[in-house]
Amino acid sequence: MTNTVPAFWSPRIGALEPYVPGEQPRIENLVKLNTNENPYPPSPVAVEAIRRAAESGLERYPDPTSLALREAVARRHGLQVDQVFAGNGSDEVLAHAFFAFFQQAEPLLMPDVSYSFYKVYAQIYGIQCEVQPVDDGLRIDVDALAARARKGCGGIVIANPNAPTGIGLPLARIVQLLEACPQRVVLVDEAYVDFGGESALSLIPRHPNLLVVHTLSKSRALAGLRVGFACGQSHLIDGLVRVKDSFNSYPIDRLASAGAVASLDDEAWFRTTCDKIVDTREGLSLQLEDLGFDVLPSQANFVFARHPQRDAAELAALLRERAVLVRHFRQPRIAQYLRISVGTREQCMQLVQHLQDILAPT
Ligand code: PMP
Repeated sequence: MTNTVPAFWSPRIGALEPYVPGEQPRIENLVKLNTNENPYPPSPVAVEAIRRAAESGLERYPDPTSLALREAVARRHGLQVDQVFAGNGSDEVLAHAFFAFFQQAEPLLMPDVSYSFYKVYAQIYGIQCEVQPVDDGLRIDVDALAARARKGCGGIVIANPNAPTGIGLPLARIVQLLEACPQRVVLVDEAYVDFGGESALSLIPRHPNLLVVHTLSKSRALAGLRVGFACGQSHLIDGLVRVKDSFNSYPIDRLASAGAVASLDDEAWFRTTCDKIVDTREGLSLQLEDLGFDVLPSQANFVFARHPQRDAAELAALLRERAVLVRHFRQPRIAQYLRISVGTREQCMQLVQHLQDILAPT
């Protein structure tokens, strides 16, 4: 990073280290397994709803309260409408939550291996963080996190299943964190929960400090639409609304609302697609193990794997030369792992074939 701040920048932005999203290149016949997108198209009912929404009303602003969408979430998850907040992708919801709840005198706690955007939000809002090392199997050390929280903290944020490991925590462990941190918010980011994790939504009535964040980008194949939501008791939702109404009154546009509502109501499409991805993930994990990879047990739509004899950055580069994209993080503790999104069966077969070639003794 340069030490000089370009003209016109305010001093603080020169010091930011922004999140780097996975690349979205324009390469033909790409096997794109780098950003945990759903390999299948979204519900056709959702696509039709977006088409219809485009036919009239675009000259008007959308509903600033996103009521129809919040009602659909409440219906799907057995919540009250005032327990739901909607935003422009869960990244925006997370950012608002950091602003609303974590600007405290004590540090925000998170595992050292986690979704890397959390540190970026903390940085932009001047939130002090303290990381808790995951164990040798890259599992979140809940006992250590809870013990640290009991001494006083500004809140806790975790992804469950965790990113980029895919490892899930059972609900009892979430309760342990909620009880260790009763004065502050515990944010559970469930971006990947629909692929086999245990959701903490059922804990909301009993825990006033629980905020659960979901996205329609993964299990509902709507990454291009940008819709996410948070669920919690209404006092937390009111806090988020205050931030949103100080930032952007209309985060959910008319097309996004129509598509998201239809998608949330299409349970059959959702179940079939998630089941296919889980099934493919199990097959892919076994095939990677056959190739000599250590594969972490995943409850997400990706697997996290390392090859004991081959450098992960080099493998990612060799795959890229063959138009197969996977994600590699140059970060402490996980630099020898590849995060591979679960594609269609066909895409996963192509990945495995390329890896077989690359790993074959010459
Ligand atoms: N949380 C986690 C753990 C993620 O991996 C992602 C995807 N990068 C998000 C949140 C954000 O998803 P979106 O903004 O597409 O809803």
